[in-house]
Amino acid sequence: CSLCVRLSFLNFPVVVTVAYNKDPSPAKLNLGVGAYRTEEGKPLVLNVVRRAEQMLVNDSSRVKEYLPIVGLADFNKLSAKLILGADRLVYLHGTSPAIQENRVTTVQCLSGTGSLRVGAEFLARHYHQHTIYIPLPTWGNHTKVFGLAGLSVKTYRYYDPATRGLNFEGLLEDLRSAPSGAIVLLHACAHNPTGVDPTTHQWEQIRQLMRSKALLPFFDSAYQGFASGNLDADAESVRMFVRDGGECLVAQSFAKNMGLYGERVGALSIVCRTADVAGRVESQLKLVIRPMYSNPPIHGASIVSTILKDRTMFQEWTIELKAMADRIISMRQQLFDALRGRGTPGDWSHIIKQIGMFTFTGLNSEQVAFMRKEYHIYMTSDGRISMAGLSSRTVPHLADAIHAAVTR
Ligand code: PMP
Repeated sequence: CSLCVRLSFLNFPVVVTVAYNKDPSPAKLNLGVGAYRTEEGKPLVLNVVRRAEQMLVNDSSRVKEYLPIVGLADFNKLSAKLILGADRLVYLHGTSPAIQENRVTTVQCLSGTGSLRVGAEFLARHYHQHTIYIPLPTWGNHTKVFGLAGLSVKTYRYYDPATRGLNFEGLLEDLRSAPSGAIVLLHACAHNPTGVDPTTHQWEQIRQLMRSKALLPFFDSAYQGFASGNLDADAESVRMFVRDGGECLVAQSFAKNMGLYGERVGALSIVCRTADVAGRVESQLKLVIRPMYSNPPIHGASIVSTILKDRTMFQEWTIELKAMADRIISMRQQLFDALRGRGTPGDWSHIIKQIGMFTFTGLNSEQVAFMRKEYHIYMTSDGRISMAGLSSRTVPHLADAIHAAVTR
């Protein structure tokens, strides 16, 4: 049908999964999924999440009343501390002057996507510049989220296929020629789909350029702690922009780092110049949210605040989070070693250099199609593979397939 024809051209992981589900081969491998899998290929619910849920169930004083429009107050406070830096909680390191000075407004939203959408709607209504620059390439939903909110979406150069790394000069050039005040979408860490992040030094140059042109940073933080295993390190890009006292927006997701995908837990924080502006921003955010979904769901946010509030549970979470990040990093090393072991032509060092859940392999759409047909390996046609979908058992099969695809 015409819809299927149109869908087949899209680079959606969901389309990849539909094709994967139909494949009867026992050797099939789905590397299109954007969710963590264990070494056994199973979805994971963190122990600390199970424990928090049990505590919530056992607490008979808990009711199912509506949350306020902006969500659960504790959740909002703790989420802002997690990404921006904490003040009093010793187990959340660092200090954010913006929080201390009450310059941050945080609203609970429907995971990362909902946080981006609420932020986009707010900007479309209240910000003077309606152009947003997103990296090329970026997560497929960005264009739609911002476009449908009424912003004009433009791209800035990001990925260089020749080096399989950052096109830093192109990025600077494009931001330099953006109109003053334009919004710029930045992936806080673990850029999706490329796995390529700027270095700290490059972030500093980006910050200086953006501040000198009054460009407004809108961070998408979908992988805090999931990239390096360290919550502070993965938030450093955001914190650099907060430390200079300027404005920024941050959309946070707890889908990956707490494994709460389907619970749809996230937060939008808007860092303002003064406490007075932050108060007015909150009023406007309520007017954006109210006609969209009235107020957010209670369960997932309660899990997150239970964990972040309690020092022991927080530490337990960081250990489980690091284990997920380490497994992904180990998959990178194993795949790299397997390709080197096979003498596969090409420089595959980008597999170990790239960060986060995804690797942009550099395989072209024909090679991707070949691997699907001959090896039953499924990935998006841009050659992006989810490292979380791999295991020590499946690495040799993938390495064989890549070797065959590039040598045929
Ligand atoms: N931003 C990026 C870059 C992502 O990769 C994702 C998840 N794939 C999201 C936002 C949103 O995810 P969610 O809405 O599930 O939190």
